[in-house]
Amino acid sequence: MAHYRIALLPGDGIGVEVIGQAVRVLDALGGRFDHSFEYTEDLVGGASIDAHGVALRDETLDMCQAQDAVLFGAVGGPKWDDPKASVRPEQAILGLRKGLGLFANIRPVKMLPILADATPLKRETVEAVDMVVLRELTGGIYFGEPQRRWDEDGQRKAVDTLAYSEEEVERIVRLGFETARGRRKLLTSVDKANILDTSRMWREITEEIAKDYPDVTLEHRLVDACAMDLIRHPSYFDVIVTENMFGDILTDEASMLAGSMGMLPSASLGAAADGSTLGLYEPIHGTAPDIAGQGIANPMAMILSAALMLRYSFGLEQEAATIEQAVIETLSAGHRPADLASEGDASLGTEALGELIADTVAAGN
Ligand code: NAD
Repeated sequence: MAHYRIALLPGDGIGVEVIGQAVRVLDALGGRFDHSFEYTEDLVGGASIDAHGVALRDETLDMCQAQDAVLFGAVGGPKWDDPKASVRPEQAILGLRKGLGLFANIRPVKMLPILADATPLKRETVEAVDMVVLRELTGGIYFGEPQRRWDEDGQRKAVDTLAYSEEEVERIVRLGFETARGRRKLLTSVDKANILDTSRMWREITEEIAKDYPDVTLEHRLVDACAMDLIRHPSYFDVIVTENMFGDILTDEASMLAGSMGMLPSASLGAAADGSTLGLYEPIHGTAPDIAGQGIANPMAMILSAALMLRYSFGLEQEAATIEQAVIETLSAGHRPADLASEGDASLGTEALGELIADTVAAGN
């Protein structure tokens, strides 16, 4: 029996509600495929601020580093929303990214035909959407120094710094080429090379790496044009690779193509000291304070994040596909979470959906 150790970081709001359903599905899967999953749970985000005064404790980071993978819910909420506070829930995410060396965020965006009418776009525009967006995670404007505010001549001033090194660009771009190689072999690198020096360097390095991947077609797009084309012709894209802030914005835009925030998983990958892959898996949505505590959050993005964990961290492709298929079957059978139900139609709550998916996984599909 293979044994896997998983750090469980539920976080706040619906993070706590949906992560329990991922565990339920993993346990059902373990029973069927003879794997055992051992979970070590800890507080992060607002819950950790309340209990310990910080969003992420060193002990929590150490615990994560000692596991085989990390499952993360979401952090934040109105209770901790003061932008001037020195301790904020998002520090947990940034701390985990830095502490675990997570440099790549991978977001598959695939339209399930059964949900093609649930997106704000026309069915014919979205039904063939099948792309992967790779976002660089550790560099760029979110981490550059100086980052500060000050007063000068009676005016408020502030500065953020956008910085990248060659190494940071190369590792994410290479992952982009490798990912494209395993798919339709089209890599779109997104930048703002008409304005930014970091983008001009990004483009130059990407062109150099392209020589190692003659089988992959490389194209460059400016981020503003790409934002437009993602809506105009989304099925064109195969793999998109981009820097931190552009990726933050484009991945949320791309998420709307798949129908709902509640459907999309993500993987954040880093390289452990021994060369093995270290991954953190989380839904792309936040803590949804507007519905938290009502038991109606869609658990599918979290459950599909567990499937990505099986695929990328444990190499369990068949098991990952089993979970993905169980989600599709649950939807195909007509069961809908509230965020995907048409007005007036019945929907199922978080627990009921988790149970149905777990039962489908256990029964074999
Ligand atoms: P959100 O993703 O929490 O919610 C946006 C909208 O989508 C809401 O209407 C919500 O009800 C809905 N939604 C999201 N996930 C859903 C699900 N699984 N099922 C059904 N409906 C769902 O984004 P927000 O409102 O901008 O942020 C709320 C809080 O979450 C903030 O504190 C923010 O900082 C935090 N946040 C955290 C993360 C993270 O931890 N990775 C990511 C984004 C936002």
